[in-house]
Amino acid sequence: MKLQDYQFCPQCGSPLQGQGSETDRRRCVAEGCSFVAWGNPTPVVAVLCIQNDAVLLAHNVTFPPGVIAPIAGFVEAGEDPAHTAKREVMEELSLNTETLELLGVFPFAHQNQVIIGYAAKVSGEVVLNEELDSYKWVALSKLKAWDFGTGAVVAALLAQRAQGRLSHLFS
Ligand SMILES: [Zn+2]
Repeated sequence: MKLQDYQFCPQCGSPLQGQGSETDRRRCVAEGCSFVAWGNPTPVVAVLCIQNDAVLLAHNVTFPPGVIAPIAGFVEAGEDPAHTAKREVMEELSLNTETLELLGVFPFAHQNQVIIGYAAKVSGEVVLNEELDSYKWVALSKLKAWDFGTGAVVAALLAQRAQGRLSHLFS
């Protein structure tokens, strides 16, 4: 459930007022309470893992068949997003991050998220955790961005690669 859909105040339990729109946010009008459901987006890290000039895309068990994407995960409270990236690479794929580069920060309004996109040069053998059930190494020459969510991270990788900025991640 999104915060802007809350029916009751999480601080005092009173019913919230307002329509939940940008100009009429759901808010608590109880005396002494000033809770407002801002509905700010959630930061999510997406990581393009690179090995031997190929990028790993994985199928999450919650995805429709055939849909693959960079690995991703939520930033924990107080966590440096760069640490989130390395942690997710280890947790989901059992790979070590040798070099990490920030590719950019992208809105994902559909999920009320902000995607923090990284490229990681990785080492080790892939072992999937329970969130994933298959993966593919896609050669850089075959990699294409898509017009949705983490596709923006792939587009950034391809654009910055073309400018020569990421040469240390590739052979
Ligand atoms: Zn309240």
